[in-house]
Amino acid sequence: MRYISTRGQAPALNFEDVLLAGLASDGGLYVPESLPRFTLEEIASWAGLPYHELAFRVMRPFVAGCIADADFRRILEETYGVFAHKAVAPLTQLGANEWVLELFQGPTLAFKDFALQLLGRLLDHVLTRRGERVVIMGATSGDTGSAAIEGCKACDNVDIFIMHPHNRVSEVQRRQMTTILGDNIHNIAIEGNFDDCQEMVKASFADQGFLKGTRLVAVNSINWARIMAQIVYYFHAALQLGAPHRSLAFSVPTGNFGDIFAGYLARNMGLPVNQLIVATNRNDILHRFMSGNRYDKDTLHPSLSPSMDIMVSSNFERLLFDLHGRNGAVVAALMDAFKATGRLSVEDDRWTEARRLFDSLAVDDETTCATIAGVHGETGYLLDPHTAIGVRAARECRRNPALPMVILGTAHPVKFPEAAEKAGIAAVPQLPAHLADLFQREERCSVLPNDLKAVQAFVSLHGNRGKPL
Ligand SMILES: *Cc1c(COP(=O)(O)O)cnc(C)c1O
Repeated sequence: MRYISTRGQAPALNFEDVLLAGLASDGGLYVPESLPRFTLEEIASWAGLPYHELAFRVMRPFVAGCIADADFRRILEETYGVFAHKAVAPLTQLGANEWVLELFQGPTLAFKDFALQLLGRLLDHVLTRRGERVVIMGATSGDTGSAAIEGCKACDNVDIFIMHPHNRVSEVQRRQMTTILGDNIHNIAIEGNFDDCQEMVKASFADQGFLKGTRLVAVNSINWARIMAQIVYYFHAALQLGAPHRSLAFSVPTGNFGDIFAGYLARNMGLPVNQLIVATNRNDILHRFMSGNRYDKDTLHPSLSPSMDIMVSSNFERLLFDLHGRNGAVVAALMDAFKATGRLSVEDDRWTEARRLFDSLAVDDETTCATIAGVHGETGYLLDPHTAIGVRAARECRRNPALPMVILGTAHPVKFPEAAEKAGIAAVPQLPAHLADLFQREERCSVLPNDLKAVQAFVSLHGNRGKPL
């Protein structure tokens, strides 16, 4: 499989190079040159497969030529073996023909484990074979950091530096990062906000001299391997609910358009998906595009669902590419104009096509809490605020009540106790067994000023298993 850039100018790469690349050299994102397409008979024959084996069938075409079948199978078995639930991604029924797909049974209790547990192992495999070491730098407002550290902690060939805004992530989220100890794990609390952290990552990719030749790898959702891993659970959920003999709908809490883009790809690969719902919080740039053809940058609104607090959606460019007949020059022009003006609209026929593909809804904090309280009252089931947004959107946007509706459950409610409290729920949930002593564990973290040079000096001093590069 070869991968091409959404802006049409960068060289095509194979899977291994895409795994190690961040942005393409023309500023675009990598996408497969062509998607594999499965027949209904083939999909039907996968019913009942264990998660890791289904993952092998779905993802094999994407890694073909780079990862040998036997290695890939072993990696997938290990990856999904660390999840706490035997079904890996179990379904819980909420209402008539309505299910939550629980994607929070992994080590850090959020769906990002599905991709980052795999990414860490794939990196380890590829880097061992090449005899190479890399440095990862990432910025996090919470969930990505812990999932990335958990995914990479056992990689001998990786030093990972995760920056979070000092005193601006929840205590559970901070401890999930800082209590994972290892010579190759580096938590940095920046005296600034999340955007400052992200800017420093971007600037480091742009000017890598401080790394003295060591390669820098990205773990944010622009990394193709993350999208790829997320395609699998759409197939998994659908097969549990009678696909491909019947079609179904998904409602997806979305920020960077990564998770829902994976659902769009699953449909293009042959899964009968009748409806895909983009569910956002008040940071609703995607909903504004879907409902009014205005992809316009707004200010950031902090919400009760912080993992979806974004101003722009980095993976949206991948959809734009398809909407424009995969014409990289058109996408490059649109993105250049967006960079200059903060605004983007597409031609009417393209927008009509986007609306045919997706429905959308933006849900504010008040409605999020009302949904948490309502569902808890009806069923006793406690939703995290991100998943609650998905439930709300599912209920408002559903087109066909006769078809199963699956809401992606993106986080465990214990990670976001503030929302449960605001929803008036007294019994705050308990941490699962593997995290029960989280508040007693030793923490390791360095506080650094909001200063690029200081951060880069820190990385170059510790980037080789804690020793200088
Ligand atoms: C990251 C995250 C999201 C948003 O996912 P995208 O891929 O950015 O759309 C939603 N919910 C939770 C809990 C997350 O951690």
